[in-house]
Amino acid sequence: MTNKYYPTIGLEIHAELKTETKMFCACRNNPDEEKPNTNICPVCMAHPGALPVLNKKAIENVIKVGLAVDGTIADFTEFDRKNYFYPDIPKGYQISQYKYPIVSGGHLAGMDITRVHLEEDTANNKHDRGDFSLIDFNRSGVPLMELVTEAHTFDNSEDTAKGAMKFAKELQLILWYLGVSEANMEKGEMRLEPNVSVSIDPKKLNTKVEIKNINSFRSAERAIKYEIERMITLIEEGKGSEIVQETRGWDEAKQKTFSQRKKEGSADYRYFPEPDLPKLKLHEAFDLEKMKKELPELPEAKRARYKTDFGIKDEDIEIFINDPVLGAWFEEVAKILKDKEKVKTASNYITTDYLGIKKSKTEALLPSAKNFTELINLVTENKISSRVAKDILAMIVVSDESPMKIATEKNLLQSNDTGALKEIAQKIVDANPKVVADYKAGKEQAIMSLVGQIMKETKGSANPAVTKQLLIDLLK
Ligand code: ZN
Ligand code: MN
Repeated sequence: MTNKYYPTIGLEIHAELKTETKMFCACRNNPDEEKPNTNICPVCMAHPGALPVLNKKAIENVIKVGLAVDGTIADFTEFDRKNYFYPDIPKGYQISQYKYPIVSGGHLAGMDITRVHLEEDTANNKHDRGDFSLIDFNRSGVPLMELVTEAHTFDNSEDTAKGAMKFAKELQLILWYLGVSEANMEKGEMRLEPNVSVSIDPKKLNTKVEIKNINSFRSAERAIKYEIERMITLIEEGKGSEIVQETRGWDEAKQKTFSQRKKEGSADYRYFPEPDLPKLKLHEAFDLEKMKKELPELPEAKRARYKTDFGIKDEDIEIFINDPVLGAWFEEVAKILKDKEKVKTASNYITTDYLGIKKSKTEALLPSAKNFTELINLVTENKISSRVAKDILAMIVVSDESPMKIATEKNLLQSNDTGALKEIAQKIVDANPKVVADYKAGKEQAIMSLVGQIMKETKGSANPAVTKQLLIDLLK
């Protein structure tokens, strides 16, 4: 490669909002409805003369997002008709917002936000029935938030793909924390449309291409990288003019982007204000200051708090941030334990051992904070070995019993009683003359085999360090 290339990326993200009813009618907004054309009415079926009625909750949800990303909430806002023809939008237009979006500006995860507006989702085309297509109107008229970012220039294709995903994942977290969207990518509740361009001059933007049909963060990352590298190759080969403004699809099977259609300009949509909906004065209709104050703690603030309050590893913090239920439970645990070192140990047991058990044992549940902290106290105070702690953890995620009770009943409490341990050690030494001979001949590692046997004999209740020292003394 001879030149330095600057990839630029912008993101368009759609998210279906979680509301009881649809955007302009009283039909249920149920993303899990399996029976097609169940939640429908003349409004969301686009019958002539049916009139839309605004859903205040949907607007409130978009305002919350705006407040969370430090955007400016418009005073005046209105809806517009975006005209285009497609079977999934039989009105011939989508009700969207053009000139006056609910939110302008804002920033998140190192990228600037242009706007966040509200529109309606379309119906769903099903092309999997052979010679004909079917349309399901359950999704038609579901409130849909659209967020658009400013173009951001990164250093290379790798950073671009990673940076864009960091933004998208952080937005997904915010939507979850605010409770405004399930934002499940696989279910199409959150849809990512990155647009990328590549330039040799960092101050000059080149022709951009939009990528569609992405259904996971992984695919998005790959699609972005692929597209940037495709453009660089074209420029390198002197075929830069072949880069045209278009929409490209992502082919998951081939791991490639492919040309879908040449992109329309906004003029083609002949936007105009929707005459059937009222204009809105958001600063009058909503108490924005109160809404701002009532926002829940957001991921970034929570990260900072976990860092200062608990001093745990960044990887652990990320696990708790991404699983708020687990995070809340960990906070309960930390509150009981108080001691910082114990809290760190607890965090380790949760993120490695508990989550590890959960992967293989689907019936595993979080034990009560009381029982879990009892376990942490036992292991940090050396009353049980870490081996035994892991075994007891595997039990209490099923039965949620007292670890102290289990340890006592099963005789797993670490014997600081060296007398009893000495007896067992002697027995093991006597039974293993060859290992003892190896050790005495200078093979120091041989002693570990004896430690292992003693651990087994004591069902793990012996402290390994104490046991090893005891053997060393015994074999002198
Ligand atoms: Zn309806
Ligand atoms: Mn849109």
